Amino acid sequence: MHPVRFFAVIGSFALALAVAAGPVSGADSKEVDEKDDAARLLVAEELSKLAAFCAEKNAPAQARSELELALLAERKTREIAARIEELRSQTGSPPADFGSRHQEEQKKAYEKCTRALLELAPLLEKESPERFSACLDLLDRFPGTNVASRFDATFFEPYSRWIPAADARRLESGSEFVDGKWLERAQVTALDRSHATWKDPWVVSDGVHEVRTTLPLRTARQLLSYIGTYRRFLVRHLAGLWEIAPPKGGLLPVIVTASQADHRARWEAEPRTAGVPLNGGAACYLVSSDPLNPCFVTFEPVLGEGRVAKVPLEVVLSALTHEITHQIVFEHAKPARKERDSGMNAWCVEGLAAYMQQWKLERGRWRLERAARNVPLGGGRFTTLDPAFAWAKEHEHALPPLSRFLAIPKEKFYKLENYHMAGTLTWFLLEGEKGKYRKSFARFLELVHESQDDEKSFSTCFEGVDQKVLQAELTRFVAGI
Ligand SMILES: [Zn+2]
Repeated sequence: MHPVRFFAVIGSFALALAVAAGPVSGADSKEVDEKDDAARLLVAEELSKLAAFCAEKNAPAQARSELELALLAERKTREIAARIEELRSQTGSPPADFGSRHQEEQKKAYEKCTRALLELAPLLEKESPERFSACLDLLDRFPGTNVASRFDATFFEPYSRWIPAADARRLESGSEFVDGKWLERAQVTALDRSHATWKDPWVVSDGVHEVRTTLPLRTARQLLSYIGTYRRFLVRHLAGLWEIAPPKGGLLPVIVTASQADHRARWEAEPRTAGVPLNGGAACYLVSSDPLNPCFVTFEPVLGEGRVAKVPLEVVLSALTHEITHQIVFEHAKPARKERDSGMNAWCVEGLAAYMQQWKLERGRWRLERAARNVPLGGGRFTTLDPAFAWAKEHEHALPPLSRFLAIPKEKFYKLENYHMAGTLTWFLLEGEKGKYRKSFARFLELVHESQDDEKSFSTCFEGVDQKVLQAELTRFVAGI
């Protein structure tokens, strides 16, 4: 066990976007908490009832869609996720009048949900900018709520959240809210300069992750917002399959640097990386049996040809998504983790990260990117984002046989084409064939991430599945990309 490093904490992200509201008494705060809880519960329950109506009328797809919306209320999650899993494999043809009946029932349910959220939002605006944003985000999913004009709010893309329009204008002018007050751009720049060394870096936290950086506060907060949004998405994405929870006893560090030299220096300053070579990407995470292992992120990675290059934010976010997937699932699964290494099944660890890496955050929503894209880096150089599925499609007639791929030992796994194949295979096992392999694959993911796997784990988890059939289904899935 190594001691945790301490840095000065300047401001807290929870306050970062707060409007200049007066102090809120504990009693009010408790009441608002209760109202928030009640409104979210109401949304979860109303939409569950609506989904039950759809399912009863033989419309499982519509039922699922209502439940996907219900999941966003973050109440009764286990129950809702389990129901979504049941519905996933079902097909049905609803009666001719279903469309109009559904519309009627949906209108009633949506009205109840929006009424509760519309009452709640003004209370949260004073109480908690973060929950205000979450409430507006949920409201915005219901048609006709006109969140922006009704609350004079703006979706501030860099922080991926709804905020009062006046605050958005301040942020756009370079101001930041620090330690309870708004600072002008020049004051922020001066503060950034004072936190530009590792003696006293910026440290911002959301209660689960902690970003430490000598880069500007705007970058620190932007990355923290992305990480928090992604973490909630990942947990929701796995809900009903694999229950993971944030580790207790500390924050998950993400150490962000501007230069390759600084990246290397931070890696070497971390005692638990001793003797482990740093890889070249824009982000890395070292799994160890110690708690709270950090993720290292840089805006100046080493590219394929061995030269360093400055890369834009989207390249950093892509690498970060891969590595924080590792960090979240390993650190969240840690209580059950064994102190051993099977030396195999690396494909499922990398497959999950490579698959999740292709989800893109756009205006608070997640979209799975199917196509690869080259990002120019100047000087005629470029780097390729989201290559996994495009690689599989390109090699659809020459994919490695599963029997061979699944048996690749860990020491031989770490080649680009294996990452691409693993990412595509993960996508297929989660979403292909109406999700019939989801539960088996989730069990396998859990075993491997807890280091409880061995060479028989795949066949045990996929008992009764003919690998020839699996291969044919995968081929068909890839043909459809
Ligand atoms: Zn990886």
